Amino acid sequence: MKRRKIFAGNWKMNKDRSSAVALAREVAAGLPAGFDGDVMLFPPFPFLTEVVEAVSNAAHAIGIGAQNMHYEKSGALTGEVSADMVLSTGARWVLLGHSERRHIFGETDPMIGKKIKTALREGLSPIFCVGEKLEERKAGDTGAVVLRQLRIGLEGLTTEEIVRVVVAYEPVWAIGTGINATPAQAQETHRAIRSEIAKLASPMVAENFRILYGGSVAPANVKELLVEPDIDGVLVGGASLEAGKFLAICNYK
Ligand code: PEP
Repeated sequence: MKRRKIFAGNWKMNKDRSSAVALAREVAAGLPAGFDGDVMLFPPFPFLTEVVEAVSNAAHAIGIGAQNMHYEKSGALTGEVSADMVLSTGARWVLLGHSERRHIFGETDPMIGKKIKTALREGLSPIFCVGEKLEERKAGDTGAVVLRQLRIGLEGLTTEEIVRVVVAYEPVWAIGTGINATPAQAQETHRAIRSEIAKLASPMVAENFRILYGGSVAPANVKELLVEPDIDGVLVGGASLEAGKFLAICNYK
């Protein structure tokens, strides 16, 4: 089975209204004819509607997503945004469990699990991020940590729901540090994630399931990562803020 590669750009808390729209347009215009991959952009909440519009006539369809959402439908939750609100902008994707949400904002595995369930039931497709901290890797706990995050995040989902999830393995020590996991380190964890998906859903679901790598991906290292058999795309932070760099990653071949 050939899994279509995903190139996702997480803009984090960067850009203003006009530079966000300009970046989305540049990415859309820069993809070559016949580009064979799925491109997704994750701008800050206030720019979602305009970025959706900016790429709406792109020759190659570009998916737009939010960087977070709350699991409740509505209520006294000042500062939060619901799945419905994200959907109303035209966005169809959402990043959940990003390490900055876990470690700066205190999101827990069960909370992320609730968000994934809500996203799927409301009609958003999640990119579910997992990854170990440096001390956990040093202690030899990478597999245990990542698979625990995975199991809690996907708990209670049907097989049909699991099919709609994309997982991003992002070692915390590699995010924004310029130190990427080696292709062998990433491949080992991706393989473990795929095996766990086979147990949680089925071997066929696992075979089709897309697992992204994230953590200091750049034009210079993307190819060596994407040749690994279980790495199905990349989630890019810093290098997605410049169209030239992000397009070079998309065109890694
Ligand atoms: C990220 O924010 O998901 C990320 C991987 O960031 P960077 O590419 O900057 O390491």
